[in-house]
Amino acid sequence: MTQQQVQPIFILPEGSQRTLGKEAQRNNILAAKAVAETVRTTLGPKGMDKMIVDTLGDVTVTNDGVTILEDMNIEHPSAKMIVEVAKTQENEVGDGTTTAVVLAGELLKNAEELLDQDVHPAVISRGYRLAEVKAQEILNQMAEKITANNEDILKKIAQTAMTGKGAEYSKESLAALAVKAVKMVAEDKHIDRDNIKIEKRTGGSVQDSELIKGIVIDKERLSPGMPRVIADAKIALIDREIEIKKTEIDANIQIKTPDQLQGFLDQEEKMLQDMVNYITSAGANVLLCQKGIDDVATHYLAKNGVYAVRRVSESDMKKIAKATRANIINNLKDLSGNDLGFAGTVEGKKVGDEEFTYIQDCKNPKAVTLLIRGGTEHVTSEIERAVTDAVGDVAAALKTGLVVGGAGSPEIELSMSMKKYANSLSGREQLAVMAFANAMEVIPRTLVENAGLDPIDSMADIKAAHSKKQKWAGIDVFTGKVMDAWKRGVIEPLNIKTQAISSAAEVSVMVLRIDDVIQSASSNDQMPQQMPPGGMGGMPPGMGGMGM
Ligand code: ADP
Ligand code: MG
Repeated sequence: MTQQQVQPIFILPEGSQRTLGKEAQRNNILAAKAVAETVRTTLGPKGMDKMIVDTLGDVTVTNDGVTILEDMNIEHPSAKMIVEVAKTQENEVGDGTTTAVVLAGELLKNAEELLDQDVHPAVISRGYRLAEVKAQEILNQMAEKITANNEDILKKIAQTAMTGKGAEYSKESLAALAVKAVKMVAEDKHIDRDNIKIEKRTGGSVQDSELIKGIVIDKERLSPGMPRVIADAKIALIDREIEIKKTEIDANIQIKTPDQLQGFLDQEEKMLQDMVNYITSAGANVLLCQKGIDDVATHYLAKNGVYAVRRVSESDMKKIAKATRANIINNLKDLSGNDLGFAGTVEGKKVGDEEFTYIQDCKNPKAVTLLIRGGTEHVTSEIERAVTDAVGDVAAALKTGLVVGGAGSPEIELSMSMKKYANSLSGREQLAVMAFANAMEVIPRTLVENAGLDPIDSMADIKAAHSKKQKWAGIDVFTGKVMDAWKRGVIEPLNIKTQAISSAAEVSVMVLRIDDVIQSASSNDQMPQQMPPGGMGGMPPGMGGMGM
């Protein structure tokens, strides 16, 4: 830019905002750090909870990283990128969301210090990529192998996932349920978390939570004339309506006499009766239909002693098919005895003031339900999230067969090995790898801080233990002393750590590489208030052009 008085050329629509170069970078880093700072205090067993009140006044009290970030409705574009990290972590592993976000924040914070020393962002990005690859390698070497027979370790993994959440006081029984559920739906190494339906019911106590060998749906039978309980249920799953379809063309049927009308109605009734016949003659005594069921059909179903439910959701249909080994049928004429599923009982139950259908006691079901009970709505919701984490961690551990100790031990081991690696490099990338290695320490440090303890001594002690080859030396958050995380049963699946590190590295490189933020006018009004204090010193509105 020069000082000459030349007519500026506008390349962006009026009202767009543009932030360039260092300023853009700093703003983005600031926003990302602000996100990390928000969830940081929730990390670990001594982490605090957040209360989030949405626009409707609904309250969520949670310790779960991804829930907090999703419910916060973050608007800032690069802060949103950090939220994506949490979401990816949630989808890939189901736990470790706070860890991933805190790591991303720390990586960016350390990158900022390098920027201050005039290290070019491209160099930092390159160094971070190198470091990330090395980190994965080190983690894989550190990990311990387990199999489905290591029941004890699996339970500890589930308990570690629930530590510090609302489930704390019942974590032993809940951990046992989570492990049992995952083992039931596992088909060799293939475990689909979707096959574990986690249902919550307010009322009763957490201890009343149970594993149902089958599926519970929030639907009741169609008419009180149907039996409430069916033993030895043979279940037909139909994904079409059991109604007479309206004709697609407009036809005029002229009815001149009452006889004709009766004949017409009889004809319809006959068709519906036929439909019911297909179901009963296949041997079904339970009908679960994804679409509607006509009243006349309901009448005949009840008359035949069939327990029928309509408008079952597609995802429930799929789970029920897995649990009872039924085939979902579209054409009623095709339905045969082989397509029917089996359940020990199908029963309509009233819990609280809601009606449910329990499809349970299935033989070797590949889909099950974890029924979570708790005293209040907030408690059950938080326990549901804790159990979801536990199920995710146990599944992840079984899938890869690799696990690590927790309590900050893998992060310290990583950090120390990576510093050695950094020393083997030359040039400025060394600085970036070193910054990456230092960033790993944020996890144990935060665990200590959140416990209200002073991190300086604890960090020194834990590093000393690692120098003595105690690779699972972690932080005892109750005393601030060093403990062997493995022996104390603080165990996590390896891929919580590998996934957290890869997405944190990815997002920090992505944020670092942005040197220009161009914002259209429409979203400007939301920008300033979402910025952390001191952020977004950007150009005033209307400076959409560049002076030449
Ligand atoms: P995230 O969303 O990342 O899973 P959490 O709040 O669940 O966050 O905290 C996970 C961290 O807490 C991990 O680093 C884990 O090793 C640590 N942790 C869990 N249980 C214990 C424990 N009993 N003692 C020390 N650290 C623990
Ligand atoms: Mg966790």
